[in-house]
Amino acid sequence: MDLLKIITSTDRYNFHSHTQFCDGRDTVASIAAAAVASGFEHFGFSPHSPVPIQSPCNMSAESVGAFRAEVNAANEMAHGSTTKFYAGMEIDFLGKEWGPHTAYFTDLNLDYSIGSVHFIRNRRGEYVDIDGKFDSFRSKMADKFDNDIRYVVNEYYRASAEMLSLGGFDILGHMDKIGQNASYYSPGIEDEGWYIDLIEDYIAQVIASSKIVEINTKARVEHGRFFPGERYWKRLVEAGVPLMINSDAHYADKVDASRCEALSILSRLK
Ligand SMILES: [Zn+2]
Ligand SMILES: [Zn+2]
Repeated sequence: MDLLKIITSTDRYNFHSHTQFCDGRDTVASIAAAAVASGFEHFGFSPHSPVPIQSPCNMSAESVGAFRAEVNAANEMAHGSTTKFYAGMEIDFLGKEWGPHTAYFTDLNLDYSIGSVHFIRNRRGEYVDIDGKFDSFRSKMADKFDNDIRYVVNEYYRASAEMLSLGGFDILGHMDKIGQNASYYSPGIEDEGWYIDLIEDYIAQVIASSKIVEINTKARVEHGRFFPGERYWKRLVEAGVPLMINSDAHYADKVDASRCEALSILSRLK
């Protein structure tokens, strides 16, 4: 499939969604029905990938076949409508040993893939999920990271840069996601010089990578931000980075959430 062609020819797409196969709250069938009702032309399912560590949010390797069968069934259900469904994955990058570039994923021949960082290693070498609710993040800061927010932010962007250089995926997922929990933990952190240096270096690498970068709208209503944050959009647009607006929906009624707002902000920058 040609993602670039799709996103430059229509706004009625979404390539980031979660279902019962991972931590989504609705089924493939009900999200597919919502996508048809919302008039999407292209709609991708992107379960959190299998990972070789304990994680209640990720799909199991055993369920990959069933997932693909359900996406096929969604295409049959939508036959005659204008919606086409795709079986993708939001692949977790854990390091050189496990990520979008490793054989397990490249051999799956998915329709497309998103590369995302949700887990980083702490100083004891344990993988810790730094995504999710702030309450949980705050306790992990104490229990897992010795309250060293700078370590966490550094490690997030270091892992992101490593993922980008190893490649193997089509879409860069929520590139500054750590900014949300880090900002709740330490308000104003994104305006601090060291953070700015870190993200500016990373953005330069993103631009050089020629990857499609998603603008993730999932947290817009609840947390008032997009990923990447709006403050970085102009630079990405000016550098000619292809931007894709994704809702990262975990519920059927959120398939199109805040995409319209993102599209209109973006159109003013172009
Ligand atoms: Zn994600
Ligand atoms: Zn997601």
